Amino acid sequence: MRVMKFGGTSVGGAQQMRRVVDLAAAARQETRVMLVASAVSGITNLLIDAARVAQERGPVDALSARFEDTHAAISRELAGELGPARQKPLEEGLAALASELRGLLQGVGLLRECSPSVLAHLSGLGERAACLILEALLEARGLAPKSVDPREVLICSGDPLQATPMMDEIRSRFAPLRESGGPGLMLMPGFFGGDGKGKTLSLGRGGSDYSAALAAAALDAELLEIWTDVDGIFSADPRMVPEAFPLPEVSFEEAMELAYFGAKVLHPKTISPARERGIPVRVCNSFRPEHPGTRVTDAAAPPQHPVRGLSFLRDIALINIAGAGLKGVPGTAARVFEAMAHAGISVVLITQGSSECSISFCVQHAEAERAVKALEVAFEVEREAGKVDAIERTGGLAILSIVGDGMRHRVGVAGTFFSALADVGCSIAAIAQGSSERSISAVISETDGPRAMAHVHGRCFGTTEVVELLVAGVGSVGGELLRQVRQQAPKLRAHGVDLRVCAIANSRHCVASSEGIPLEGWEEKLAAGGGGPALDTFRDWARAKRPGRPIFVDCTSSEDVALAYPSLMEAGLHVVTANKKANAGRWSHWRTLRQTASRHQRRFLYETNVGAALPVIDTLKNMVRTGDTVLRIEGILSGSLSFILGLVEEGVPLSQAVGTAMERRFTEPDPRDDLQGTDVARKVLILARELGRNVELEGVKLESLLPADFDASGPLEAFLARLPKVDESFQRRAEALRKEGKVLRYVGSVTEAGCSVGLVPVPLEHPLAAVKGGENALSFLSERYSPTPLVIRGYGAGAAVTAAGVLADVLRLVEGPLP
Ligand code: ADP
Ligand code: ASP
Ligand code: MG
Repeated sequence: MRVMKFGGTSVGGAQQMRRVVDLAAAARQETRVMLVASAVSGITNLLIDAARVAQERGPVDALSARFEDTHAAISRELAGELGPARQKPLEEGLAALASELRGLLQGVGLLRECSPSVLAHLSGLGERAACLILEALLEARGLAPKSVDPREVLICSGDPLQATPMMDEIRSRFAPLRESGGPGLMLMPGFFGGDGKGKTLSLGRGGSDYSAALAAAALDAELLEIWTDVDGIFSADPRMVPEAFPLPEVSFEEAMELAYFGAKVLHPKTISPARERGIPVRVCNSFRPEHPGTRVTDAAAPPQHPVRGLSFLRDIALINIAGAGLKGVPGTAARVFEAMAHAGISVVLITQGSSECSISFCVQHAEAERAVKALEVAFEVEREAGKVDAIERTGGLAILSIVGDGMRHRVGVAGTFFSALADVGCSIAAIAQGSSERSISAVISETDGPRAMAHVHGRCFGTTEVVELLVAGVGSVGGELLRQVRQQAPKLRAHGVDLRVCAIANSRHCVASSEGIPLEGWEEKLAAGGGGPALDTFRDWARAKRPGRPIFVDCTSSEDVALAYPSLMEAGLHVVTANKKANAGRWSHWRTLRQTASRHQRRFLYETNVGAALPVIDTLKNMVRTGDTVLRIEGILSGSLSFILGLVEEGVPLSQAVGTAMERRFTEPDPRDDLQGTDVARKVLILARELGRNVELEGVKLESLLPADFDASGPLEAFLARLPKVDESFQRRAEALRKEGKVLRYVGSVTEAGCSVGLVPVPLEHPLAAVKGGENALSFLSERYSPTPLVIRGYGAGAAVTAAGVLADVLRLVEGPLP
């Protein structure tokens, strides 16, 4: 025996009905079959709407006409295969249901009341109509089914809209159908049963799945098939998470948890009857019957990931009852939940603080007000005595749950879950973990849902992770970064990282696009972009969109931009910067940056501040973190000066060497930043601060590369025109040193005595003498690295390496495994 349940879209039209019959015919070849059908999609909603409108004395004719027309149209479309002998009675049957509906609506209108019993009866008309059509079509195929009336076999009691099945009675009513000589093909409408005395009782919205499961249990079926419109149970609702994928297998427990916490593909009560009798369940796609779908069994293969799936339950309210008077009072929790039970309110999730001073729980939003009233009554005495504070209710919430048998006894799953929520700036109102360790739920704001689901899914399953870049500054470094992103993006995508440039700005223009700006011809797009303060646009974009992993990338050298980092972090952006102005600004700003980053759980990365892409900052941080004491840092920290001094050594006049360095874009936009030593001083300052030194830029002893009496002020053009004046003296100095076997190097150092930068004559055999042509070199003498210091040396000038260093920082923020 196999029970096959077809959902609304699977019986949504003539073509779908034909497919149901095909699938039933094929199954019938193998075994006895019971079909359970839902209403044509949209019809149940229509009926419930009509009942409400009738109760409010609104116009219902159009609604009842739509009920009639929808079914008549399907019947007409099937006329060819039904033949007049079958179509006529079908039309009469459908017309009778339509007139039953009109009668019921009229009654509701007259009484201005739609009792739960009436609504249960009325809302089941859709299933009955669908079954009439299927019955005629099956007969036409020579498969005449036995029609089963659920009101006679699915015996229930309790709430007419959420009835409780009486399994023993159901099994005894099903007995004649169960026996081996029983009918080979049966057809039953889903969604409702009866009280055994003629009254219809509904199993609740989406209840056809439950009807089918009850029938499967009562018939001792070997298999229960849930035919729907997706390829099985997905790792998350595919409408919410496009990355979600169908799960080949899940355990009964996992399916129950997923369904309970909102996976609409299964009614939450479906699994229990099947599990009790060990009946495997298959969830499959009637639009793609060849797809294997999901098998739900008690022997599901262990999953690859600890998390099997995610679910999302909307329309939730959190109720909180708190007060010092609750502490240590036995029976408080019992009274809270007794009050809920008494009011017929089902509690979805419970948490309690260890102080026992507060109990929080979730209910359906629609029941929140009643829940609060019920508690106010139950705790009236305590409230009056001031032992219980106001009972609070927070609406607009949802429950995001991760579910998986593999989570049991696994460390770190909750950590990944909550850190993923933090990544997308999602605050958590309450947390619950089932004692089975099979699910962890977080109560979050419903509006945070889609991005939270997408991001948690990405983190749990390593599916594509979207990284959004907002790039400020498109000079040599920024421009090169965009080129490198464009080149690397396809390779990264193949590894599950979708690197998107969502905004580009320079000092005059800004373009933004959530889906990412296609990078070919970005220059024209930027030029055509709007003006105005780009950083405001970035902040607004991040606040409004709340994207997954948004990173502000600063490739400017602007102080104003550097001052804006804290506000950008507050808006939810991580910051990666090549701009030294932030870390070399006031010490108070340096500290604020780190405090803001930590408070908002944002990352602040700046590896390119010293030595372009050379791993300087990271190395130094690791030395400090692991307890080494750094005694002295010394190095050639300016690729531009190393390049210029290299040329001077070859006999090139200083002014010409500066010109060449500028042409190659090796210098800062204003080369005086390099020549006067300010740029190196900033780097030395940044290194010193990594060592925990509270220093300001003025505290760095600075000797300019230019002679003290040279006037370096005024506009850049004028300065460059004056520069040849120093060529001769500079050349002479270099020449004199050469005779002594020495060369000039511009060296920055951090020692016990303090920070300094300046020209230092070094002997040719000194390691720093070999560093030229744009190279950087740093030596760290420390307690561990002593007497031989740790040395980092390599190319450290120009846009290509700096941009690569920025990109490397960006990729440090990516979780998944990279190429
Ligand atoms: P039916 O009418 O066949 O009962 P439903 O609309 O009740 O279909 O359930 C199927 C829908 O459930 C899918 O179209 C999908 O949008 C939604 N859904 C939610 N969560 C999941 C999930 N985890 N896996 C698959 N589908 C899901
Ligand atoms: N047709 C009913 C509903 O929409 C039952 C079901 O589809 O499962 O709720
Ligand atoms: Mg359903």
